[in-house]
Amino acid sequence: MIPVAKPYLPSRERLEKYIDGIYERQWLTNNGQLVQELTRRLEDYLGVENLLLVSNGTLALQIAYRALGIHGPVNGQPAEAITTPFTFIATASSLKWDGIQPVFVDINPQTWCLHPANIEAAITQNTRAIVPVHVFGNACDVEAIDAIAQKHSLKVIYDAAHAFGVKYKGESLLKHGDAATLSFHATKLFHTAEGGAIIFKRKEDMERAKKMINFGITGPETIEALGINAKMSELQAAMGLCVLDEMDVNVQGRKAVWCRYEKVLGQTLQLQVRPKELDYNYAYFPIVLQSEKRVVRLAAQLRENGVLARRYFYPSLESVTCLGLEVSQSISKDIASRILCLPIFSDLKSSDQARIVSIVMSPLGD
Ligand SMILES: *Cc1c(COP(=O)(O)O)cnc(C)c1O
Repeated sequence: MIPVAKPYLPSRERLEKYIDGIYERQWLTNNGQLVQELTRRLEDYLGVENLLLVSNGTLALQIAYRALGIHGPVNGQPAEAITTPFTFIATASSLKWDGIQPVFVDINPQTWCLHPANIEAAITQNTRAIVPVHVFGNACDVEAIDAIAQKHSLKVIYDAAHAFGVKYKGESLLKHGDAATLSFHATKLFHTAEGGAIIFKRKEDMERAKKMINFGITGPETIEALGINAKMSELQAAMGLCVLDEMDVNVQGRKAVWCRYEKVLGQTLQLQVRPKELDYNYAYFPIVLQSEKRVVRLAAQLRENGVLARRYFYPSLESVTCLGLEVSQSISKDIASRILCLPIFSDLKSSDQARIVSIVMSPLGD
């Protein structure tokens, strides 16, 4: 089966060298040498400051909410955060899990990111934050969102799980917002098997979060704040350092796959529209078909031919009842029903890709 995504496996020899070091130092976690090294190297690679490594991308979001103080109730009622229904479940469920009510507003039909024009109407007395997603690595309208946040004194936390290495107007997209979070799950562009990071705008917020990820413990006998365990281990950092060493191969491989898809499918199918000033990371290749019926049929046809395409992100999250919000968001619902992500990873064989493309292009008939 050709999967939709495949973890990038770096040179085993390289990984073993790092593991030798771990055995020598006999230090496995708690802000070890490799975690510190990966922090510096990622700040350098991404062109950002105040980066904090954590154990996964979901806790990255939760720690960001708490470090920015948006989780507490407002006048005895749950705080609210405005977010998008067109995303992976963790964006919204992490809010709800932390007692913050997600409030969905609809997306832009072209970029598939939260539409700034819909935000202000959803702001209430209880709104504390906006949590937009740079979905599939596309840039949200960061200028418009920042302006609305300033006007209403709201915090902005970007779920940038897909936006590793993406640049906007020549600078890291991750510099926008009070915080931006990354996921380093195995199937993401850059990974540490499981892991994540938060990039904070302000150093003091990063320092607060740093205490939170280690139970609030700040010294051998001092517990300064309420915390949780969200530390990255040395083994995860070792994987990350190796993947980072080979980032060029990884991105160039994906870029080749991405460009071949785009050349053939871009003529006839609806693709995500990205701003001109965006330097993309080639992490995903979603297509939108004319109808849900076609998506189901094409996915089945691909599966019969040993190809696993996935319906990311389906369903639109307002239909997930445990989130407590069932107001239909029509554009998100429509795009979610017609979207399909095609396999993309750095060593996807061109013969396999040609096969995928010919199935996608074949007349399906209704
Ligand atoms: C992967 C992902 C997450 C969750 O990250 P984990 O590291 O798996 O916890 C959150 N948001 C989005 C948009 C994601 O794609």
